[in-house]
Amino acid sequence: MDLEAAFRQVGKQLSAGRVSAEYHPYAELKHTWSRRQSSVSFRISDYMDSAPGDVTDAMAWYLLCKAFGKACPDGMADRYLGYARSREMWGPKKPVYVSRARSLSFRPVGSARDLGTVFDYVNSCYFGGSVRRPDLAWARESPSVRLGFYFEPLDILAANRALDSEKVPRYVLEFVVYHELLHGVLGAKGPPTRRVHHTKEFRELERRFSMYEDAEAWLTKLARKRRAEKGVPQV
Ligand SMILES: [Zn+2]
Repeated sequence: MDLEAAFRQVGKQLSAGRVSAEYHPYAELKHTWSRRQSSVSFRISDYMDSAPGDVTDAMAWYLLCKAFGKACPDGMADRYLGYARSREMWGPKKPVYVSRARSLSFRPVGSARDLGTVFDYVNSCYFGGSVRRPDLAWARESPSVRLGFYFEPLDILAANRALDSEKVPRYVLEFVVYHELLHGVLGAKGPPTRRVHHTKEFRELERRFSMYEDAEAWLTKLARKRRAEKGVPQV
């Protein structure tokens, strides 16, 4: 069954009026919709274009329920939520994702810091060298959004470009890399609809970082400073 047919069929069961759906080449995995009177049209990330039929059905349930503010029937969305985070889905899409990820630079050597060296150091200090090196990237985005992330299905670890500076102590970047590697090692817990990333165990291990308090203070300062800068008029 194709995308639109799946959405129409679920739409009928939810009395959603006229439903249409098409793929769109968003850089991230995201979907949008617009409602007009008795019709709703969805733009679905084209990363989903090779999804098996049952995943497409589950996605239609998940998004139509969201669009109409209804609770999704138990378990109906699970197949989609699992697939959307799986290597099964992301593996073949990696080249496309990388080509669209304009905010990411996959050259680990920055202007002040080398992510490769930092990864090796953190890996040997805290993980006994047991972590396989992910793809390392610098992310150009506001530190108030995030200072790093680990995207498990693509095995990409990114640190914010703001940390690539002599003005920021190296241990701050090490802490961000440590935090993101912990995500890779521990994974998320809980059911697909309520996944918990920062579990109690995660927070305990995070505190084992040797400069934990100082690094936390720096990260808070960085995120705040950038937020304040936004309000300053450009000269
Ligand atoms: Zn985290």
